[in-house]
Amino acid sequence: MVYCPLCAQRLVDRWVDGRVRAACPAPGCSFVFWNNPVPVVAGIVETTRGVILAHNKAWPPGKYSIITGFLEAGETPEAGIRRETGEELGLHPLVVTFVGLFPYNKANQLLIAYHLTAHGTITLGAELDGYKIVPRERLKGWDFGTGLAVTAWLAGNPPPFAPPPASV
Ligand SMILES: [Zn+2]
Repeated sequence: MVYCPLCAQRLVDRWVDGRVRAACPAPGCSFVFWNNPVPVVAGIVETTRGVILAHNKAWPPGKYSIITGFLEAGETPEAGIRRETGEELGLHPLVVTFVGLFPYNKANQLLIAYHLTAHGTITLGAELDGYKIVPRERLKGWDFGTGLAVTAWLAGNPPPFAPPPASV
C-alpha cells in the first residue's frame, strides 16, 4: 500500500507496535497499514480414486495444488471449504475433517486446511482448467503453503477412504 486510504497522503515507514509499518504522516490521521494475514480455506479433496490436485488458469503449466478459496463474510471455514469444493470441482463433500492451520507467508495468508471426502462427477469451476487425481500412496507434500497441509495430513495416518453409503 502506497497511499493513505483515508487522506491520500503517501505512507511512510514508522515503528509501530514492534515493527516497521507503512503509516500515514498527516497530522490528525492515524492510519496504519497493518497488513494482517488473510484467512484462506484449503481442501484436500479425496474421492475413491485419490486426492484431486487442480491447475489454475493463471499458473504455469505443470503446477497443481489442492483447492483453496476465500471465505465469504459471515461464513464458517467448514462451510467455506464445502462451498469451494462444490464451486471448483462440482463435487458434493461428505465427511469434512480439520487438518490444521498453516502459514503461507509469501501470499500473507493463513491457510485453514481440511480433508474432505467427496463424490460426484468433477466439473471444474471458472478459475481452473485441469486436474489430476493422485492416489494417496503416491501423494507427496511440498515445502510451502498448501503443501504443508498435504504433508501434515499424510503424516497423520489418515483413515482409509470410506465410500459413501449407497443411500447418499
Ligand atoms: Zn492519512
